[in-house]
Amino acid sequence: MATKRDYYEVLGVGKNASSDEIKSAFRKKAKEFHPDLNKDDPNAADKFKEAQEAYSVLSDDNKRKMYDQYGHAGVDNSAGGGFNGYTADFDLNDIFDTIFGAGSNFTSGFSGFGGGGRSRATRGSDVLMQLDLDFDEAIYGCEKKFSIDVVEECDECHGHGGFDKTECPTCHGRGTITSEQHTILGSFMSQSTCPACRGVGHTYKRKCSECNGKGQIKKKKNLTINVPAGINTGDRQRVAGKGNPGTDGGPNGDLYIEYVVSEHKYFVRDNDDIYLEVPLTLNEAILGAKKVIPTLYGNLKLNVASGTNSGDKERIRGKGVDNKYTRHKGDMYVVYKVYTPNKLSREQKNIIEKLADTNLETDEIKEFNRFVKQND
Ligand SMILES: [Zn+2]
Ligand SMILES: [Zn+2]
Repeated sequence: MATKRDYYEVLGVGKNASSDEIKSAFRKKAKEFHPDLNKDDPNAADKFKEAQEAYSVLSDDNKRKMYDQYGHAGVDNSAGGGFNGYTADFDLNDIFDTIFGAGSNFTSGFSGFGGGGRSRATRGSDVLMQLDLDFDEAIYGCEKKFSIDVVEECDECHGHGGFDKTECPTCHGRGTITSEQHTILGSFMSQSTCPACRGVGHTYKRKCSECNGKGQIKKKKNLTINVPAGINTGDRQRVAGKGNPGTDGGPNGDLYIEYVVSEHKYFVRDNDDIYLEVPLTLNEAILGAKKVIPTLYGNLKLNVASGTNSGDKERIRGKGVDNKYTRHKGDMYVVYKVYTPNKLSREQKNIIEKLADTNLETDEIKEFNRFVKQND
């Protein structure tokens, strides 16, 4: 499998499939491809693993979200190369019970597949955090320091949770316990993970007091991240290996930073374009003007045409966001708004009244007036 297939395609479900649909699709694939059941297809084992991997991601809301957004990269278990994070709550035994009836013991056939076996090394989970940025920090990029609560391996016991390793007395080091179950169909042997050692086969004589036996402790950690120019609200950046720690030597998960960018008083951002409302006086709008306006890259002198209306728009190429994250440069749009004065001196009023005696009707106004007459 050089290139990974789409997980939805693997299970044969649509992108909007419900968790029940995903579960039943996986059940079908598992029945179809489990190597104990499918002896004809030489690729059955690979297909079974592929379905198992797809299910482990799509059945987990967080992983599914990451996958929908980033594809395989979002959930990829890159450190190990292989797939070893399978911890789905799906009980494969019930598939085989439905096919062969209770009484068959397939548990022994599972070692070697994702979830089975003795190794409990699992990759840590990913962590998602939000980081606030000022408008300027997002536009020009910045170095941002922040602290996160990380769960780290306990230094005292090196993640074991205790000292003086000893064989688990419950399972005698096997990690599993076997029990006989009696049903109306007869009795059969069932094998399950040892509850005392949770399957690892050993316990410790002395519990670590530093981490209270958990093997992990919570720490505040300071991190610095380079925020590329052009980041916008909702953009995410991945910091590899800064998520939660794995267990028993499994790699750390990743940290995802999702940005929330605050708004600017004047510049309005639309992706990489910037909109700026430029206020005009009545005389600037009528006569035209030279107007100094702010841009992201310093001030600029603009020629406002005579007869400019509210809402007239002008594009200034290349003065939008220079986005290093998407490698795209936006434009700037100036939108004029004419502010009609509402406090006039007597002298100003006289002048306007004189102006009103002249005909100020534009073609649009004349046409509108004709329509009003027709409509009567
Ligand atoms: Zn400890
Ligand atoms: Zn045990």
